[in-house]
Amino acid sequence: MSPLEDIRARIDAAARAAGRASDAITLVAVSKVQPLDRIEAILAQGHRVFGENRVQEAASKWPDFRARHDGIELHLIGPLQSNKVRQAVELFDVIESVDRPKLARRLAEVMSETGRHLPVFVQVNTGAEPQKAGCPPDETEALVAECRALGLDVRGLMCIPPVDDDPAPHFARLAALAQRCGLTGISMGMSGDFEQAIAQGATHVRVGSALFGARAHG
Ligand SMILES: *Cc1c(COP(=O)(O)O)cnc(C)c1O
Repeated sequence: MSPLEDIRARIDAAARAAGRASDAITLVAVSKVQPLDRIEAILAQGHRVFGENRVQEAASKWPDFRARHDGIELHLIGPLQSNKVRQAVELFDVIESVDRPKLARRLAEVMSETGRHLPVFVQVNTGAEPQKAGCPPDETEALVAECRALGLDVRGLMCIPPVDDDPAPHFARLAALAQRCGLTGISMGMSGDFEQAIAQGATHVRVGSALFGARAHG
């Protein structure tokens, strides 16, 4: 079994165990820092949904992959600076890291200028870690409302639990917040915990190292 087949089988099993349809879960293959041949190998197996956390890095590789493969769906899963919004909107298909009103306003502006109305997720800092990106949990409903008022196509919430915490309470918090906001998309779970995230309602799991192998850095 290839690593991709293995991860897909584990997603199917976790979905079945949770009484969920496995096609309700999207595997976002996190290709940051990976050698191009590893990405090419996953593309060759037919996978099309990828995640990158840096605009610049994505710009250096994805236009080439897109020229050679149809149907690629690229998710931005890392922090987005306002001055990179235009480039991000041109490069990505989904923005998962909307975490502040200023960024939401800039995205709305650029999307209306370019006519590229990308789906977005609001990133929630479920652990309220001071150094980490993401909207504070108690400001999430207001930010989602503001995004909607701006005309953004908000599909769901995203979180990255603190590395040293049990992710379960963070996943539960994100799922509850999504429900309160009337959102069906829930992006949570990475290589070490995606099965648990699926048990708790994840619709998008972001898997990097378990799929591509360890990253050299980053
Ligand atoms: C790197 C990254 C991942 C994937 O992490 P792995 O542990 O390698 O699966 C998922 N989400 C975000 C936001 C990341 O930056």
